[in-house]
Amino acid sequence: MPDPRNPLSDPARRAPDTLLVHGGTERSPHGETSEAMFVNSGYIYPSSGAAERRFKNEDPGYIYSRFSNPTVEMFQKRIALLEGAEAARGLATGMAAVTTALMSQVRAGDHVVSARALFGSCRYVVEDFLPRWGVTSTLVDGRDPENFARAMQPNTKVVFLETPTNPTLELCDIAAVAEIAHAHGAKLIVDNVFATPIFQSPLKLGADLVCYSATKHIDGQGRAMGGAILGSQELIGGDIHTFIRQTGPSMSPFNAWVLLKGLETLSLRVERMAQNAARIADFLAGHPKVARVLYPHHKDHPQYELAKRQMSSGSTLIAFEVAGGQENAFKVSDALAIILISNNLGDAKSIITHPRTTTHQRLSEEIRLESGITPGLLRLSVGLESADDLIADLSYALDQV
Ligand SMILES: *Cc1c(COP(=O)(O)O)cnc(C)c1O
Repeated sequence: MPDPRNPLSDPARRAPDTLLVHGGTERSPHGETSEAMFVNSGYIYPSSGAAERRFKNEDPGYIYSRFSNPTVEMFQKRIALLEGAEAARGLATGMAAVTTALMSQVRAGDHVVSARALFGSCRYVVEDFLPRWGVTSTLVDGRDPENFARAMQPNTKVVFLETPTNPTLELCDIAAVAEIAHAHGAKLIVDNVFATPIFQSPLKLGADLVCYSATKHIDGQGRAMGGAILGSQELIGGDIHTFIRQTGPSMSPFNAWVLLKGLETLSLRVERMAQNAARIADFLAGHPKVARVLYPHHKDHPQYELAKRQMSSGSTLIAFEVAGGQENAFKVSDALAIILISNNLGDAKSIITHPRTTTHQRLSEEIRLESGITPGLLRLSVGLESADDLIADLSYALDQV
């Protein structure tokens, strides 16, 4: 047994790297080193009276894995400790997390203000699904906080944004938008997938809820889907818990176990990936075949000052425009030997995507161009390979243009 008088017995005294390895671990009587995988759906009660007490919330034990499971709970505790959140819930996917966060905070007649540069499915939920249920939405250019202020209505209940955005790595000023949302009695929900909990802390900047696709950097090895929502005990234990319990977008115990392992190495991986990304951004910025590079901590980024203030690193993603449009962008992607063509991101393997013809093909050309998704734009998710190899791979591919 660890010494309970040791100050480091208190998780609040531990650094993030320590929390990522030990946070939330609950050992069974067998004393396993690694977290156990509880793949059961249900739980038994020692008596009928015990079952009754559990259903009345008088006894905190488990009831049913749709809303409570020991392995999922370890994942939730670990990510909550890392984020400095009072509470967290694990979900089946990142989209389950975003949809649950939004749906649990609105009802027919409400209004949502959202930044327009969003992950494709997030935009679909805000623009297409919410209005079907009587929740109107206004999409704004999220780069200027004033645009959120102008779009607020008396019935605005939620402001939603992601920063940096997919795929053009535009930024929103989280602290400024939080102030605007709160002045109107609305909640700010931030999709923090691109920045990861290691490089940006939306709750500390005033957000009410933060969402993750755990499929991305948290797994980061292409194995499992997952999502998470974090925030105050009041919000998470209230409407969000009820929404998950009654509608079932739940995380599976197996995926929670994979993602617990992912969290153990999260900071190691994303810090190395971001170091690689910074070097590659410098390489691309000086290349004659590259018309434009977008990387938050690169001095050419239009919101460089905000990036330095809000994020502790430039992230693991780069967007860049190949001179000469789509034909040349395809030539570059097709000439790569190490970097893979895929739409995932945050993976140990470097991945390149042409947003115009894949993740953002549903949008009209007009909306795409307004969001900076030009025919020559490529999104690069930088992995854990040698930075020298990645630069050589890109250099060869750009020479084919
Ligand atoms: C991938 C992603 C999502 C959705 O996550 P899934 O796990 O694929 O459902 C949401 N937001 C952003 C920014 C993403 O990159």
